[in-house]
Amino acid sequence: MTAIKRIYTFGNGTAEGKAGMKNLLGGKGANLAEMNLIGLPVPPGFTITTDVCTEYAQFGMAKVRELLTDEAKAALKGLEAIMKMDFGSDENPLLLSVRSGARASMPGMMDTILNLGMNDRAVLGLIKKTGNERFAWDSYRRFVQMYGDVVLGLKPASKEAHDPFEVIIEQMKSEKKVENDLDLTAEDLKELVRRFKLAVKENTGHDFPDDPWEQLWGAIFAVFDSWQNDRAVYYRALNNIPEEWGTAVNVQAMVFGNMGNNSATGVAFTRDAATGENLFNGEYLINAQGEDVVAGIRTPQQITKIGSQRWAVLQKYSEETRASQYPSLEEAMPQAYSELYAIQKKLEDHAVDMQDIEFTIQDGKLWMLQTRNGKRTGAAMVKIAMDFFREGRIDDKEVLKRIEPNKLDELLHPVFTKDGLANANRIAQGLPASPGAATGIIVFSADRAVEVSQKDIKVILVRIETSPEDLRGMNVAEGILTARGGMTSHAAVVARGMGKCCVSGAGALQIDYHAKTMKVDNVIYNEGDWISLYGSTGEIFEGKIETQDPELSGDFGAIMDLAEKYTRLKVRTNADTPNDAQVARDFGAVGIGLCRTEHMFFEGDRIKAMREMILADDEAGRRKALEKLLPIQREDFEGIFTAMTGLPVTIRLLDPPLHEFVPNEEKNQHEMAKELGIDVSVVKERVEQLHEVNPMLGHRGCRLGNTYPEITEMQARAIIEAALDAKAKGFDPIPEIMIPLVGTEAEFTMQEQIIRQTAEKVFAERNDRINYLVGTMIEIPRATLIADKIARNAEFFSFGTNDLTQMTYGYSRDDVAKFLPIYQAKGILKNDPFQILDREGVGQLVKLATELGRKTNPKLKVGICGEHGGEPTSVEFCHLVGMDYVSCSPYRVPIARVAAALAVLNN
Ligand code: ADP
Ligand code: MG
Ligand code: MG
Repeated sequence: MTAIKRIYTFGNGTAEGKAGMKNLLGGKGANLAEMNLIGLPVPPGFTITTDVCTEYAQFGMAKVRELLTDEAKAALKGLEAIMKMDFGSDENPLLLSVRSGARASMPGMMDTILNLGMNDRAVLGLIKKTGNERFAWDSYRRFVQMYGDVVLGLKPASKEAHDPFEVIIEQMKSEKKVENDLDLTAEDLKELVRRFKLAVKENTGHDFPDDPWEQLWGAIFAVFDSWQNDRAVYYRALNNIPEEWGTAVNVQAMVFGNMGNNSATGVAFTRDAATGENLFNGEYLINAQGEDVVAGIRTPQQITKIGSQRWAVLQKYSEETRASQYPSLEEAMPQAYSELYAIQKKLEDHAVDMQDIEFTIQDGKLWMLQTRNGKRTGAAMVKIAMDFFREGRIDDKEVLKRIEPNKLDELLHPVFTKDGLANANRIAQGLPASPGAATGIIVFSADRAVEVSQKDIKVILVRIETSPEDLRGMNVAEGILTARGGMTSHAAVVARGMGKCCVSGAGALQIDYHAKTMKVDNVIYNEGDWISLYGSTGEIFEGKIETQDPELSGDFGAIMDLAEKYTRLKVRTNADTPNDAQVARDFGAVGIGLCRTEHMFFEGDRIKAMREMILADDEAGRRKALEKLLPIQREDFEGIFTAMTGLPVTIRLLDPPLHEFVPNEEKNQHEMAKELGIDVSVVKERVEQLHEVNPMLGHRGCRLGNTYPEITEMQARAIIEAALDAKAKGFDPIPEIMIPLVGTEAEFTMQEQIIRQTAEKVFAERNDRINYLVGTMIEIPRATLIADKIARNAEFFSFGTNDLTQMTYGYSRDDVAKFLPIYQAKGILKNDPFQILDREGVGQLVKLATELGRKTNPKLKVGICGEHGGEPTSVEFCHLVGMDYVSCSPYRVPIARVAAALAVLNN
């Protein structure tokens, strides 16, 4: 039996791993190996596999430590040999970073510990070796702080509570009367280390661990543990990352960006992650360590000269932050810059995708610390994929594979109108961190954002800087505004990944969490005040600004054409009005899969006629009222047939329980009685009669049409007459009449007969004919089981997966919110089955009904019209069971089209 290999080393131009091994080594580990292999300067190290994370969850710490020990010792020996340094030595100490790194990148969600291996001896060794006392003590105090926070658990759970180490630093600064950390002397930092260690002792009851190996084991397991921290769990849920994947742990030799003014650290993107423009860009800080840039503690400087120039144009409002943008790395360290420029090009060419890279410059020498495919907005996703295609570096299939269908949604979001912008009062300027237009009320904490947004109020999350703890708040906010932090800050990266509008680094804002105020030029804004953000320019405005639909770029159209080329499924839309139908048609919908007739009854005077029908005592009374509804319905249908000329239009007969149309409140009942000229007691009595215990399982759907056939008669007549009217005007209407909520064969055939007889009558009256189909919505589990019988007469099936899911699970759609979140948290359900079609259960019924139906009627058209029709994984399922089309809301049509093409390419 061969032993399991748990550790993969890299360094000195060789590596045991490579880019293709992301599942085992995590993205960071695999790419560190790959960067070594292509000859880039990377500090050596080793990666503990994601499998070990799983073993740890299974067997616990002691066992896994035992399993790892031999390999870890050997790997560290190798590292010492390459570095010519010794771990824990007091002459020439090797310091390490211990870094998380999962298969999918989860920026900042897990933990990292830097400068590990420090103790009272190592610090002296470092001083001896570098002659830089301040740097040595700075590294030591950073280590104690990070280790204390992450491994020993001193970091407070709540963002609002103070980190004990930060409190000590602030104390120290006020004692020494300095403002900036950089002004603390070596002596001060040494004192900080002492106080930090005291705080550790006080908080944990134990001395800070001195032994480097103890430190290392502690850090390794803390990084594994961080896979389960709240932020990571939440981020995984948001991005559908499975818990089983686990994280790898990377142990790597430290390089130091905090050695003085010839050292720096930074983050860069090979292209613009907001717009997709092919422009190298990024940010850096002199004399700092990695975390300082991404945490947004200081607003960093631009890497390129052009970046600085662009930024200066935007930054008219704050002299202070403007000054901090100069000089660029290009100007300050030209040598290191030109090497970085060449490397970023090489990395992008090698990965054939936009890269997000981390680097550190130690005393003039450039080191690469990370590369990964960069997070980007929907617009950048489309542009970058098309640019690579035009450059001939990827083929058209690969273009589609790089489109995340759901992200196309961002491109369709509204933008501010020109007039709205021209009249808006601009209060400050920040960085255009993530594009889009957002309006909402100011809130100052993630918790508050969640609380307020639950009341359906739009919020803008305003923070001095954001940290991964703010993720929940960012997710519910319309937009995010920060006073500090640059384009590569956490807020910016995460916001772009979410497609959320974000303005960062607006230095003119003075934010006071305590008073819940934001002050700009002496004007005070309070929590609850409305502001607007324009993420594409970084501008911040007072109040609300009017929005409009965006203009779509040519690249968007190109993506749609490619989807068309590869897709098999057709995409239709759910639309009840000619306007919706037109919007969907413009997005490429090739028909209406669901036109709900009931919505048409609610507007204006129509509801009166509807109520009259419901209140009638007998058939004659109902017919009289229905006669008033007929012309109204006919007109609506004609409008839709006209907008969809040449394309099929599926119209569903009346579906909801009748009580939805009558007033339940006393006041409205009086009004209605007056309108209809009857006594209010009659209205009340009828409302009582219509009351049902379980209305969604009650008198609705085809049960209405089968008990009151005259309703179906009227609707069938309206549809056929409208079609003939449209035809007479030169249009080409293709009606498909859909009977809802069928559960037995007779339920279908009875309705079908009424429809066909009515149609023949109308044809005779008009002396003209038209082709039409009669089919049914499959949404009751029983219907799926007898689909072969229903299909004897039905010409199409359309799966109503909302009701089908409701009835298959027995979960009321309207009440599911009470327990669904708990079920998901406990792992009883992986997803919300009303959002993502449940392949295991509901999907089986869909598959069965499709097969049974086609057995008796090979020409049967099959589609889906539930919410699932616009959800990418559900669309894939529909493709796999061989449906003819999916139907979704107009704005999801582009998403469904790409998902349908991907279903072909990925299967
Ligand atoms: P994340 O996944 O959150 O980006 P990283 O593991 O990349 O976490 O580390 C966080 C920061 O620490 C990065 O900015 C990186 O530059 C810095 N860092 C990591 N390893 C080293 C190292 N070996 N030497 C210097 N800085 C490092
Ligand atoms: Mg990183
Ligand atoms: Mg239904």
